[in-house]
Amino acid sequence: MPQKVIGLLGGMSWESSAEYYRIINQGVRDRLGGLHSACCLLWSFDFADVEALQHAGRWEEATALLVEAARRLERGGADFLVLCTVTMHRMADDLQVAVPLPLLHIADPTAGRIRAAGLRRVGLLGTAFTMEQPFLRGRLKDRHGLEVLVPEDADRALVHRVIYEELVQGRVEPASRDAYRAVIARLVARGAEAVILGCTEIMLLVRPEDSAVPLFDTTALHAEAAVDLALADEPARIDQTRFNEG
Ligand code: GLU
Repeated sequence: MPQKVIGLLGGMSWESSAEYYRIINQGVRDRLGGLHSACCLLWSFDFADVEALQHAGRWEEATALLVEAARRLERGGADFLVLCTVTMHRMADDLQVAVPLPLLHIADPTAGRIRAAGLRRVGLLGTAFTMEQPFLRGRLKDRHGLEVLVPEDADRALVHRVIYEELVQGRVEPASRDAYRAVIARLVARGAEAVILGCTEIMLLVRPEDSAVPLFDTTALHAEAAVDLALADEPARIDQTRFNEG
């Protein structure tokens, strides 16, 4: 069966989309060898447009942007969609209703790996939208049985600020790494058995050695799941049971 075409909704920010592109191509090379690489399409937004809608709470307009881009990818021949940002999964259900292509939801491969490791109580780092609204936490809890801890108020503000003022602008600051380490340590002290890097740029800043407990990087897990689906000997239907091996 030929590779399926991965439709990437990216540019949110391009700093993490570049990581998706690298991991997906590396994954196909590892699996197929030789000169093989991924068949994919990337729609890359101007992130300034997206960020303005997010911070103004104009989520319906943000949904419309996603739907329009997804339709472009569909017309271009994508077989399934990968939304390369956690925050914009706030609109995942609306996007899935509007576009017939299956959406590989970022929560599912992440939770599948956590459950497979026998872990249940997880800390979550991400944008304030992701840490405070139910769209990711609810799915992790309801579909996957995870208990999710988020940082306290001041720590959430710090994590959010570093994402928007530094990471999405390509700045990786040692002082911010130290601050994230302290936030992670406080989650661990509250009982987190693992921490989800629940924003697709955090992997640029934080490494496994920055944490006393395992880190689960949504970017890598999502991109690797996209490779699995692209190379699977089955249609692009998303089989939820593939993420429930825990
Ligand atoms: N990439 C980030 C995330 O995963 C933040 C940028 C965005 O808001 O899309 O949430």
